[in-house]
Amino acid sequence: MVSWFNLELGMIKRQIGQLPYYQFEHLAEFPQLTHAVFTREGGVSKAPFDCLNVAFSVGDQKEAVAENRRRIMDGLAISPPVYCQQTHGDGIVIADPEMCVTTPKGDVLVTDHFGLFLAIQVADCQSVMLCDPKAGIVANIHSGWRGSVRNIIGETVLRMRRLGSRPKNIIAGIGPSLGPCCAEFINYRKEFPEAIHSYQRSENHFDFWRLSFDQLTGHGVLGGHIEQSRICTCCNSLFFSYRRQKKTGRFATVIGLRKQ
Ligand SMILES: [Zn+2]
Repeated sequence: MVSWFNLELGMIKRQIGQLPYYQFEHLAEFPQLTHAVFTREGGVSKAPFDCLNVAFSVGDQKEAVAENRRRIMDGLAISPPVYCQQTHGDGIVIADPEMCVTTPKGDVLVTDHFGLFLAIQVADCQSVMLCDPKAGIVANIHSGWRGSVRNIIGETVLRMRRLGSRPKNIIAGIGPSLGPCCAEFINYRKEFPEAIHSYQRSENHFDFWRLSFDQLTGHGVLGGHIEQSRICTCCNSLFFSYRRQKKTGRFATVIGLRKQ
């Protein structure tokens, strides 16, 4: 494996064969934790899903998606991760190993199973990965603007607490997603509650990265434990972006604790 710190992107870049992925610095400090933010590169899908599309629901060829998912699994040397049918809702799924096959409906996966890996599929929405290494609990959140409005991130921290996690021990990474440069919502007065209006940075443009940061700290996660990739998917063609391309793929983020 080749690794180096990518100054331009502010994350650690790793490369296994033809498969590149990125890691958050502070999550990478835990040897038992596996986590990865994949890009468009290293897969077999054809345009407009080129190349490492992991979503079956976007019109790509099934065989290509299956091969892309297999490459991710082999590259990380993990068992098949749990993917969910994401709905832009607020469903939190406590994942168990059977779900690697059943594909539950929901937008958050949480587990305290060692050896179980959680995958989220995104193209502009945020994947927020959480790990409490002391309690042995991980979560992967799909938070688009609807999830941001519902504070699905805060709900996830509450759910982790119920499983035995202490928020001050949680380490968080906010993945590549729509930045304040491109998060334009012309109907925001109808769609967003007042509390979110203060996150407007320029006309109709919102800073959902900061909102996620505040939702985490609002539930007791320490600011110093939160790493933001600050990579805008719409501005950076290394990632799929629904806003840039409409018909496109989804890139994957994966997190899980290995068995001892
Ligand atoms: Zn942008």
